[in-house]
Amino acid sequence: METKQFKAESKRLLDMMIHSIYTHREIFLRELISNASDAIDKIYYKALTDDSLTFEKDDYYIKVEADKDHRLLKISDTGIGMAKEELESHLGTIAKSGSLAFKTENELKDGYDIIGQFGVGFYSAFMVADVVTVISKAHGSEEAFKWESKGAEGYTIVPTEKAAAGTEIILTIKENTEDENFDEFLEEYRLKAIIKKYSDFIRYPIKMNVTKSRLKAGSENEYEEYKEEQTINSMVPIWRKNKSELSAEDYNHFYQEKHYGFDKPLKHIHISVDGAIRYNAILYIPEKMPFDYYSPEYEKGLELYSSGVLIMNKCADLLPDYFSFVKGMVDSEDLSLNISREMLQHDRQLKLIAKNINKKIKSELQGLLKNERDQYIQFYQSFGRQLKYGVYSDFGAHKEELQDLLMFYSSKEKKLVTLEEYVSRMPEDQKYIYYATGESNERIEKLPQTEIIADKGYEILYFTDDIDEFAIRMLMSYKEKEFKSVSSGDLGIDSDDSQGNDATSEEEHKDLFEQMKSILADKVKDVRASKRLKTHPVCLTTDGAVSIEMEKVLNAMPNNQNVKADKILEINVHHDVFQALTEALSTDKEKLALYTTLLYNQSLLIEGLPIEDPVEFTNNICKVMV
Ligand code: ADP
Ligand code: MG
Repeated sequence: METKQFKAESKRLLDMMIHSIYTHREIFLRELISNASDAIDKIYYKALTDDSLTFEKDDYYIKVEADKDHRLLKISDTGIGMAKEELESHLGTIAKSGSLAFKTENELKDGYDIIGQFGVGFYSAFMVADVVTVISKAHGSEEAFKWESKGAEGYTIVPTEKAAAGTEIILTIKENTEDENFDEFLEEYRLKAIIKKYSDFIRYPIKMNVTKSRLKAGSENEYEEYKEEQTINSMVPIWRKNKSELSAEDYNHFYQEKHYGFDKPLKHIHISVDGAIRYNAILYIPEKMPFDYYSPEYEKGLELYSSGVLIMNKCADLLPDYFSFVKGMVDSEDLSLNISREMLQHDRQLKLIAKNINKKIKSELQGLLKNERDQYIQFYQSFGRQLKYGVYSDFGAHKEELQDLLMFYSSKEKKLVTLEEYVSRMPEDQKYIYYATGESNERIEKLPQTEIIADKGYEILYFTDDIDEFAIRMLMSYKEKEFKSVSSGDLGIDSDDSQGNDATSEEEHKDLFEQMKSILADKVKDVRASKRLKTHPVCLTTDGAVSIEMEKVLNAMPNNQNVKADKILEINVHHDVFQALTEALSTDKEKLALYTTLLYNQSLLIEGLPIEDPVEFTNNICKVMV
C-alpha cells in the first residue's frame, strides 16, 4: 500500500500538533464537530434548493462514541461525505496555512496560542491521537474509502465498506505520559463538558451514549448501569438566545469556533431586531488587526444566514469599508435561500439590515469611547486608520458620521484626544484648530513652525499617519472651526509688536528676499520674513492646496504624478543668521548664495525631506567652517 506525503505546509502544522505542549488540546473536538456540522449543512442546503432531495431532520446528526478499552474515540456524521479525491485534497493539504505563515518559528515554539485562537481544523486531531482514521462515503456515491495517518510519515487511502453516506473519524487516543493525561478524552463526563462548552449551539444533535443507572429488575436496592442515547447540545444557535443567558465567555467561544480571528474579540454586539426588518446578528470588534488586514487578500464581510442556514461566507454588502474590521454573522428570515450574489446586492431587506448594522456599530464605538476610553484607544490604534480612510473616501460622504470617532495626539495633553475635546477647550481668541504633520510625535514636537502657536498656549494636533491630513482636508472644519496647518500661510494669529516680523520687514528686506529667491530658482515659490519663528532661523511652509506631507505621500504612491507643494522658505529676521545674510548681500554675493542654499537644505532636513545633493551640502558646511 502506497504511503502518500503531506504537502510541506501541512507537514509543518502536523509536526506542531504532534509535539504541542498545548493546554487546550480539548479544542480538537470542537474542530471535528464543526466539520461534521458543515458536512450536514451541505446536504441540508442541497435539499432546500433541490426538489429531488428531501431532508428528514431525524436522519442528520453527529455522534460521539468512546471506547476506553481500545482507546478509540469516534466522531461520526451523516453529512455529505468525501469522495476519494476529496479525502486526498481536503485532508492532505491544510486550508488555513495562512494562519501559520505570519508567525515566526520562535512564536510557534513559545507556544503562541495559534491553535486555540485560530483553530486549525482537522489536523488538531493529532494533538490527542497517534492514529487518525477517516472512513467516508460521499453523498450519492456507491464507494467508500478509508484514509489513515499516523502523522508526519504521510497517509494511505484504501477502498472500504460503509453503509450510509457520511464520515467517521476514528482517533486512537495517545497513551498518558508522565505529565500529560490523555485518558480524559475517553471519559464520558469530560467529553460531555467539552461538547457543552464549545459546540452547544451546533444546529444538529450531537449524540452520545450516556451511562445511567437504574434499579435492577426485581431488586429493591441493587442498581445496574445501562446506556442511553442522549443529545448533549441545546442546538439553539447562540444568536437566537437571549442576551441575558449568555456570558462573555460564550461570545468568545463562538468567535473562536467560527475562526473569526486569532485574537480575542475586544467587544461583541448582539443584535435582535424584530420589526419592519427582522434579523439577529452577532458582531465583533477584534482586539488586534488581522495580519493580512492591509493586504489584497483581506476580504471584508459578515456570514449571512437565511433562517439559520448559511448562504454566504462573506457578505461584503453588509459592511461599509470603514468598518471592514468587523467580524460576525447575520441571520434573517426575510432573505430567500436561493438568492444569488447578484440579486442580493439589490435586495431591499439586505440594504436595510446593512444600514441598521452600520448604525449599531457606530453607536457601540461611540459608547466605547465615552465609557471605556482605554479600550477605545486600543481599538483606535488598530483600526483608527480605517476610520480616517472612511472620512476621506467617497468624497467625504461619511465624514459627518465618523468625525466624532476620530482621535489625534495632542501637544498639550500628550495623548489622543477627540475633536470635540479640542474645540471645547479652545481659548476665545483662537480661530483655528491647529495641526502639524510629521513622521512621529517627537519630530513634530521639534518643528520650528509650531513655536509661535505653542507659545500662544494653543493646542496642536499631531498628524503622523499618511492619511491624516487628507482626511482633515476633507473634513475642512469641525463645529465651524476650520483646520489650519502650522505650516500654512496665514495662521490667524496677530503678531504682537515684540514679534515685529511683519510687513515692514518684508518691505525693508525686499531686495534680500528677491536675491535669495533667484538663487533658489524653482526650488521655492517665495522667500519671506517669518511670522511664526521665534528661536529657529528658518522653516519651510507652503502655499496652496498641497502640503509638504501630502507631497511626500502622493509621491510615494505607485502612480506617482510628481506632485509638488508650493514651498515658501521663511526666514526669522530676528535671528543672528539673518544679520549674516544682510551683510553678505552687501559684501559678498557668493557667500549669500552659499548661506541661502545651506538654509534651504536645513529647512528640508527639518521637514524630513531629502536634500538633493548631500555631498554638496556637507562641502558647503565645511566651507563655512574654514
Ligand atoms: P475547514 O473546516 O476550515 O475547511 P478543516 O481542516 O477543518 O478546515 O477541514 C478541511 C476540509 O476537510 C473541510 O473543508 C471539508 O471539505 C473536509 N472535511 C473535514 N471533515 C469533514 C467531514 N466530517 N465531512 C465532510 N468533509 C469533511
Ligand atoms: Mg473545520
